[in-house]
Amino acid sequence: MLADKDRIFTNLYGFESFSLKDAQKRGDWDKTADFIKKGSKWVVEEMMASGLRGRGGAGFPTGMKWSFMPDPEKSGKPHYLVVNADESEPGTCKDRDVLRNEPHKLIEGCLLAGFAMGAHTAYIYVRGEFYNEASNVVKAIKEAYAAGLLGKNAAGSGWDFDVILHRGAGAYICGEETALLNSLEGHKGQPRNKPPFPAMAGLYSCPTTINNVETIAVVPTILRRGGGWFAGIGRDEKNAGTKLFCISGHVEQPCNVEEAMGIPLQDLIEKHAGGVRGGWDNLLAVIPGGSSTPMLPKEICETVNMDFDSLREVQSGLGTAAVIVMDKSTDIIYAIARLAAFYMHESCGQCTPCREGTGWMWRMMQRMVRGNATVEEIDMLLEVTKEVEGHTICALGDAAAWPIQGLIRHFRPEMERRIMEYRKAAA
Ligand code: SF4
Repeated sequence: MLADKDRIFTNLYGFESFSLKDAQKRGDWDKTADFIKKGSKWVVEEMMASGLRGRGGAGFPTGMKWSFMPDPEKSGKPHYLVVNADESEPGTCKDRDVLRNEPHKLIEGCLLAGFAMGAHTAYIYVRGEFYNEASNVVKAIKEAYAAGLLGKNAAGSGWDFDVILHRGAGAYICGEETALLNSLEGHKGQPRNKPPFPAMAGLYSCPTTINNVETIAVVPTILRRGGGWFAGIGRDEKNAGTKLFCISGHVEQPCNVEEAMGIPLQDLIEKHAGGVRGGWDNLLAVIPGGSSTPMLPKEICETVNMDFDSLREVQSGLGTAAVIVMDKSTDIIYAIARLAAFYMHESCGQCTPCREGTGWMWRMMQRMVRGNATVEEIDMLLEVTKEVEGHTICALGDAAAWPIQGLIRHFRPEMERRIMEYRKAAA
């Protein structure tokens, strides 16, 4: 288990106030200017040494992502940092706790990350439903300005820096980074074709980096304690550091918890969430990384570790590290059909395989729930998921396909049993 001394989010549960005074007592905003005075190259190198990979789902190495930003002197355009606080993936609620209880970690992280990429402005794009969270962040931003930590010569560093909070209107697709940029610019929230990538032409066609809340909020502690410290926690250099996990569903105590990357899934559920409702043997399956990641049956849950590579090896993914536990009372086909309905509803509709495919998948899943299908149609459904996966502008197509692929991979006998039963009843 992660030692308390290695915990970054010491006020994750809001037992103390989120105010600047209390945040500073917990160590936030300590030596911020010193890090900036060491130069942007040093900041980027420390981030690379830490092994931090983006915490929003894709898991791209953070330091490397920042290094893609052009040299500010040569680009001749303003640079922007955009923080993705749209947290809409079903099951995911980790950034929400950071926004409401640790906003100063995020704001200090914005300054340090913004400086590293030559940005003088950061936008925090918050999911519209997060009203209280947005209010807390705005209060924290105001406190930071009043204390000279933002604005001209932010924190006495010699770097001018502004942070602006923007509330979205609640569309899932605005969590996709280029749809988020369109929304921020006042356009319809639809993903853009890439290239150009945001590092070249992002917000207002200027060099932009988009990072998740947790990714930015861990930056100050990594710089304070050193990239080597962060890299020393977790499974290996590619799966390093601490991670916020959200555990929901059929557990005794649903919770958010910060743990070491690579913790065994069973330990995570039993030590932090009070175990599976009715005991471990009552477990049916777990969705390990938010609704888009393929589910894992109990046998795999017993041995798998919670990190990027371990989950990829079992044909799933760490995603947002939102663990959704389903016990044996779950109608597993219905659960996945419900997710299919979600993705169909949230498709922005601009590319055909997603717009049409999510509807097809949902309609076929509706029939699979009742068993009103043929066994051959299970293969047809799988084929439809393959036609959608990888053939769309953004990852929503994949996100809609993967849960169904996971269902067919692990619960095909249950799907067939239901079809047989329906036939028997109809005969
Ligand atoms: Fe829109 Fe779906 Fe295409 Fe993404 S994959 S751009 S959500 S239609």
